[in-house]
Amino acid sequence: MDDLNVLVVGGGIGGLSAAIALGRAGHRVTVIERDPEWSVYGVGIIQQANVVRAMDELGVLDAFLDAACGFDAVEIYIPSGERVARVPAPSLVPGRPANVGIGRRALQKVLGDSARALGAVIRLGVTVLDLDDDGRGVSVRFSDGSTARFDIVVGADGVYSQTRETILPDAAKPEFTGQGVWRYNFPRPGDLDALHVYNGPVGVGLVPMSAEGMYLFATSPEPGNPHYPRDGLAAVMRAKLAHAAPRIQALAEQITDDAGVVYRPLEGLMVGGPWHKGRVVLLGDAVHATTPHLGQGAGMAIEDAIVLAEELGRHDDPEAAFAAYHGRRYERCRYIVEKSLEICHGQIGKGPQVDNHKATAEMFAVVSQPI
Ligand SMILES: Cc1cc2nc3c(=O)[nH]c(=O)nc-3n(C[C@H](O)[C@H](O)[C@H](O)COP(=O)(O)OP(=O)(O)OC[C@H]3O[C@@H](n4cnc5c(N)ncnc54)[C@H](O)[C@@H]3O)c2cc1C
Repeated sequence: MDDLNVLVVGGGIGGLSAAIALGRAGHRVTVIERDPEWSVYGVGIIQQANVVRAMDELGVLDAFLDAACGFDAVEIYIPSGERVARVPAPSLVPGRPANVGIGRRALQKVLGDSARALGAVIRLGVTVLDLDDDGRGVSVRFSDGSTARFDIVVGADGVYSQTRETILPDAAKPEFTGQGVWRYNFPRPGDLDALHVYNGPVGVGLVPMSAEGMYLFATSPEPGNPHYPRDGLAAVMRAKLAHAAPRIQALAEQITDDAGVVYRPLEGLMVGGPWHKGRVVLLGDAVHATTPHLGQGAGMAIEDAIVLAEELGRHDDPEAAFAAYHGRRYERCRYIVEKSLEICHGQIGKGPQVDNHKATAEMFAVVSQPI
């Protein structure tokens, strides 16, 4: 199929990647994003070798690397602060870094600018009221009162996807894992040339994300999924790090700005069965939301977008393309979701402890395979 008129619901990492992949394949793309401010929280994200390769395939690698901080190793520390390993990470694009850290806002700008340059129309503050798929196309009524007709609709509207609720109301729902993540930005120390991972009851990571900046993440057990009011968040995060390694405790003392703390309870979701109904298909967190223990959630959403565009180009009807897309993506995404959850459960005593180092090496081997 070529020259499709496509609606993408959701202007996040997966939706924008879809707009780029579909735009490069010659399709006409409209992206709608519910948030009128298109806001993205200001901490960063780890993108590994398969994402660097995917950015190359999307034709945005130079802009992506310019906005990011590349690194070629992961250092593992035990809770006392002693370094026990420096594991080299293999690059999948010759001459380019294996992994990067990048600010979420910087990533959104790279993807959004590229999508627009390829002709995508991005409409902010708009969502879907009704989808009517009559088998030949999808008529859509938007929240601003407008209507339009599309050949296909791509639901990339995240873990609480309204599109999923509409087309697959009986699909699995996101589940709280028992763990939460705390994040905070810092200036990047001169010696931070790798991802640093500290194992322990509260797992900590230091991620370089630009020439000047890094962010710290800390995963903590959160029984009962407590709600933390914004006032006082910095003090709570400091307390979570009270028994961390000396270097982390020294950083914790600088956590003073409640507004700079980004806390999120961790949820997981894997939708079994098909990821489409008729001419409406889902991608990214809408069908497979992983905890961040392997740093691959966004990577899976970006790869989904590439594969979806490829399969639309190979088939004469959308349902055949969607089935082929699902066939290529399901096992890889299931592996990431389940392995990440195993690590999470091991950390909070809900399951056997997983050797992080071994799990990371195995994950690299899996995601290095062609998509
Ligand atoms: C704490 C944490 C840390 C993480 N760290 C990493 C990491 O280091 N590396 C990594 O690869 N992944 C990481 N992830 C996972 C990653 O953030 C997600 O997998 C990724 O954002 C999924 O992209 P998406 O486009 O599917 O969904 P989202 O990023 O959630 O985007 C969905 C978009 O759709 C919009 N939207 C929602 N509903 C509607 C609607 N009804 N109409 C229109 N628009 C709508 C939303 O506003 C949003 O902009 C992490 C996740 C968490 C929770």
